[in-house]
Amino acid sequence: MTSTSQQPVPPVASSAARTFDCVFVDGAFVESDAARLSVKAHVVSYGTGIFDGVRATWNEEHEELYLLEPLAHFERLQLSAKALSLPFDYSPQELVEATRVLLRTNNAREDTYVRPILLLTGELLPVRMHDIETRLVIYATPFPAGYVPTTGVRCLVSSWRRVPDTAMPVRAKINGSYVNPALAKTEAVQAGVDEAILLTIDGNVSEASTANIFLRRGDTWITPAVTEDILEGITRRQLIELIQGQLGGRVVERVVDRSELYICDEALLCGTAVQVAPLVEVDRRPVGSGLPGEQTLELMRMLGAILRAESGLYPEWTTRVYGDA
Ligand code: PMP
Repeated sequence: MTSTSQQPVPPVASSAARTFDCVFVDGAFVESDAARLSVKAHVVSYGTGIFDGVRATWNEEHEELYLLEPLAHFERLQLSAKALSLPFDYSPQELVEATRVLLRTNNAREDTYVRPILLLTGELLPVRMHDIETRLVIYATPFPAGYVPTTGVRCLVSSWRRVPDTAMPVRAKINGSYVNPALAKTEAVQAGVDEAILLTIDGNVSEASTANIFLRRGDTWITPAVTEDILEGITRRQLIELIQGQLGGRVVERVVDRSELYICDEALLCGTAVQVAPLVEVDRRPVGSGLPGEQTLELMRMLGAILRAESGLYPEWTTRVYGDA
């Protein structure tokens, strides 16, 4: 039986006009065709792997590509491995260097997304995490367009709950666990909005499909605490710093009730892919005035300038690809 209440899913815009053919595989730089994975690899059946995602932003005036906190992303990859007891034979610093070489080899001179993955590639059937061959891959791709509209995101609270830490480590980026946000995102898009907000099993606000969430109530910004089954986002940490250090605001990390989404003064989503995006509607109700919040716009502007290394603020957050790191 087909449902008539569901609208077709619009295609996601793609900017993949160009591809970066060189990939990093276990210490070597190879053509991506040479890095193919067997259909029998463990990860193909069971989603057994971990990954991360790093943003690199091209500054035309500087003729430089800037990685945003690459070390923090590789340290999180290492923690993801630790949480699953997977072997991790590299230092995060080594992987930052490998990424710089990878981007130079691909002559990346545009906004770029870097995707490191540690995959269980052993061709074995048993379901387990231990004693299975792994492979560490890093590839780069032109930054994909159209994650969420930066002019204002309309959300639904998903009928799917965020996978809890009692089921698998939520602060690790586990390949297979992304079926959960993928279901929520598709449900939201089929219902005609942009994005999903997932609640915890207890019904508190956790996060969006691939972004953390902040709400402002009066002079206080509020974001779900790290014990609310969120991914501990690096952009989330940057925003806490910007709100407190630059806007002179207050941030409280705590349990967030669903109804606070409906009555807050402004709200935003943040993550490596979405960067900062204003939340303008939740469950068909306007957030605040229904327009992007003033402070959200200021945070978008500040972070945008920081990642192009234009503002002079937090220079330690960016790493050059072409010049001396
Ligand atoms: N939550 C989830 C589930 C994510 O996949 C992401 C993207 N990595 C985020 C939050 C935001 O994290 P970050 O700011 O580190 O990209």
